[in-house]
Amino acid sequence: MRELLGGKGANVAEMTRVLGEERVPAGFTITTEACVAYMRAERSEPDGMYEEVAEALSRLEHKAGKKLGDPDDPLLVSVRSGARESMPGMMDTVLNLGMNDQSVEGLAKQTDNERFAWDSYRRFVQMFGNVCRGVSGESIERAIKEQKSSAGVEDDTDLSVDDLKALTDTFKELYRDKTDKDFPQEPMEQLRQAIRAVFDSWLGERAIEYRRQNRIPDEWGTAVNVQQMVFGNKGDDSGSGVAFSRNEVTGEPEPSGDFLVNAQGEDVVSGVRTPKDIAELKDVMPEAHAALMDILAKLEGHYEDMQDTEFTVESGQLFMLQTRNAKRPAQAAVRFAVDAVEEDLLSREQAIATIDADRLDALLHPTFDPDADYAVLARGVAASPGAARGEIVFSAQDAVSASEEGRDVILVRPFTEADDVAGFYAAKGVLTSEGGKASHAALVARGMGLPCVSGASELVIDVASGTVSADGTSLAAGDLIAIDGTAGIVTLDEVELVDPEVNEHFETVLGWCDELRRLGVRANADTTEDARKAREFGAEGIGLCRTEHMFSVDDRAQKMRAMIMAESEDERRSTLDELLPLQQGDFEGLFEEMRGLPVTIRLLDPPLHEFLPDGEEVAQKVERARIEQSDDLEELERTLARIHSLAETNPMLGTRGVRLAILAPEVYEMQVRAVLRAAKAVTERSGDAPTVEIMIPLVTYEKELELMRALVERVAEEELDGDGVELRVGTMIELPRACFVADRIAEHADFFSFGTNDLTQTALGFSRDDVEAGFLNRYMEEKIVGRSPFETIDKPGVGWLVRLAAWVGRERKPELKLGICGEHGGDPDSVVFFHIAGLDYVSCSPFRVPIARVAAAQAAVAHGPGELAAAAQAAIEAGQAAQEALGDEDPGANGGSG
Ligand code: ADP
Ligand code: MG
Ligand code: MG
Repeated sequence: MRELLGGKGANVAEMTRVLGEERVPAGFTITTEACVAYMRAERSEPDGMYEEVAEALSRLEHKAGKKLGDPDDPLLVSVRSGARESMPGMMDTVLNLGMNDQSVEGLAKQTDNERFAWDSYRRFVQMFGNVCRGVSGESIERAIKEQKSSAGVEDDTDLSVDDLKALTDTFKELYRDKTDKDFPQEPMEQLRQAIRAVFDSWLGERAIEYRRQNRIPDEWGTAVNVQQMVFGNKGDDSGSGVAFSRNEVTGEPEPSGDFLVNAQGEDVVSGVRTPKDIAELKDVMPEAHAALMDILAKLEGHYEDMQDTEFTVESGQLFMLQTRNAKRPAQAAVRFAVDAVEEDLLSREQAIATIDADRLDALLHPTFDPDADYAVLARGVAASPGAARGEIVFSAQDAVSASEEGRDVILVRPFTEADDVAGFYAAKGVLTSEGGKASHAALVARGMGLPCVSGASELVIDVASGTVSADGTSLAAGDLIAIDGTAGIVTLDEVELVDPEVNEHFETVLGWCDELRRLGVRANADTTEDARKAREFGAEGIGLCRTEHMFSVDDRAQKMRAMIMAESEDERRSTLDELLPLQQGDFEGLFEEMRGLPVTIRLLDPPLHEFLPDGEEVAQKVERARIEQSDDLEELERTLARIHSLAETNPMLGTRGVRLAILAPEVYEMQVRAVLRAAKAVTERSGDAPTVEIMIPLVTYEKELELMRALVERVAEEELDGDGVELRVGTMIELPRACFVADRIAEHADFFSFGTNDLTQTALGFSRDDVEAGFLNRYMEEKIVGRSPFETIDKPGVGWLVRLAAWVGRERKPELKLGICGEHGGDPDSVVFFHIAGLDYVSCSPFRVPIARVAAAQAAVAHGPGELAAAAQAAIEAGQAAQEALGDEDPGANGGSG
């Protein structure tokens, strides 16, 4: 019931069922619907809500055998937020609610532990003021620091009863300064305010920002959990901690986590004290440790996923306070999937579904070059894998402004808080000197796939003066630093970063995915290096080789320019003849790399003026040449005139792609010749013929493709003599008209490849660069669009065009091959869509190939064979049924083909 109760509420209830009431403190949940009603009514609680709260509370009091606000033996509760999706650290929690000046004394007597009672009270006044009334965290920290220094102690736990009393008074004063009111003594009033604060925290700035970044809908609302307190701050046989059922960074099968003796839960996460490793719990509280290990395994089995839990031990007795499926970096997700199948916890299909394909990106992040020499500046906790390099910045603000200027930065802080999150999005990595694996910095960075080293305690980070020093070295903002979040290393030098390799576990998972998926996965690659990488990552061919760059690298640009400047076809042909062998060389390289696999080569696409020098520059040169009466003048003037004659108001919609080839067919002719000669040469050399797919860009009219097909076939006749090179001719489908007349175009095509970048631009009438730099962000804020249509395909619009074209194209030509080569080919959500639409393959950048392989398998597991494939399957089955009905008769004699 997570939609109604929120993840935390639903799981606390579920845990109570699975583990028994003695393991989970009792409580009740105010639903997300109540929060939604509160938001709709402009922050006013729905009618009858507090009556229901009072009723639930009296049931809880009955169960606990204590009453809220009882001066002798008070019931204390926590008030906890909990949305449908976990939003770690984004919303607020109040602990120890129900305390006041009387019940603190009662609690002291009741437990015979005055220190505990006052510690609980000061925490409550502190959290309540902070969470419900916005008393600043800084003033609270300062008060604690001052109290500790005047008492001459280092740790919170060493504060005496009198210190704690004084601190409580200070917090009450802070409360009065902030609100002009006394700290509320009436427990029901405290409860009302706390519930309200949790609702309000859903509407807080940092929660809104988090939802925006994580695409969580604003209208979900949060639930509020009111739960009986258990106390980790009762002494040395008490404590609080977090525990993962497996290592949350590496995925290794041993449970991991952190805990603190004599502490309430917030202390572990906040990084005020340095927590101990969960393995050490065994020495301090062996029984609680054993129970915890047992419970972690039980919960994993129950949820069929790796768990992330929070617990408290009160006087030796273990209580579970929370569990959820663990967010985890890609390497842990992959490791878990493999182990879970080996342990018979999950089937392959289930295991693959636990992986967030989008995050796998992180596995393909660079690492430090293992052969590089570097001086280790400090070591810390390997909090989030991957390596990063950049300039030091000390604040989120600086990170944001530096990244806007295109600089790579590492965010360096003693510890981080919710307000720093904007800086995470802007930085390449995060480095802190405090906090462990469960610190805010670690959690947020892992969630984002951002490299992070936390708790590098040798570093002295002085934010005020803008320096960080260790071991006699002092660095300032702007100095270069590198971190390796996989190893927990901070270095001074600029270390070379190297591309990662696919590890053994990932290889296993990918192997399963290849068995399960129906969609093929190819890569977009223009160079032999890209092609090699693509093959390493498991690409089954090249789905898009752009030939533009082959015209622009160094000496070729000159030749290209001469070609464009040529005044007659003859002149043009002679410069093209010079380009031909160079292009042939490029294609040979690609075919060698891709031996035995299909390679789709898209003929020249961009407008010609892109190959000419900048118009203004030439105009200036003409000016100067005139004044100096130089010999170049005539030549320069000719260039300028050509630039002007080729200039277009809207080049994106101008003379590009096939349009260019209709005007000057000799360019495509040369390219086709180069491709075919390369194929022939490679076949002769290796005996392994490539499948060559010539792709014509920007086709609008079927006649365009008909003419180009004739051209390709003519050249093929001249160049090939039945020497085994398989040749296909197809087109990009990237304009709306092409989708509408896809049946006509299919007549002349062996394959379609959807160019969804241009198709998105033309279907939406969006010019990508303008839109992304312009109004798109606002559109997302206003929720006119969910995600950028350039990132995830616009399913109802552009997606519909794809389905239409696929459908009518296949209707005309059943054997038509269908692929997609826009950037959407590497976006997991879009891959699922293409699977359902029945395409044959997706093509994406080499680094996204593993991601696409996983996403394609997940799509097949979740959606079966997909729309078109299902239709085809149904037709086959109908045919078989007909055949069976006809018995031995020849079905052909009936005139039907099934
Ligand atoms: P978050 O969503 O930020 O993790 P929680 O609601 O889980 O917030 O509360 C944070 C911590 O407060 C928990 O990890 C736990 O240690 C402590 N806590 C919450 N409820 C209780 C309770 N009923 N008894 C003891 N500690 C609690
Ligand atoms: Mg929690
Ligand atoms: Mg295009």
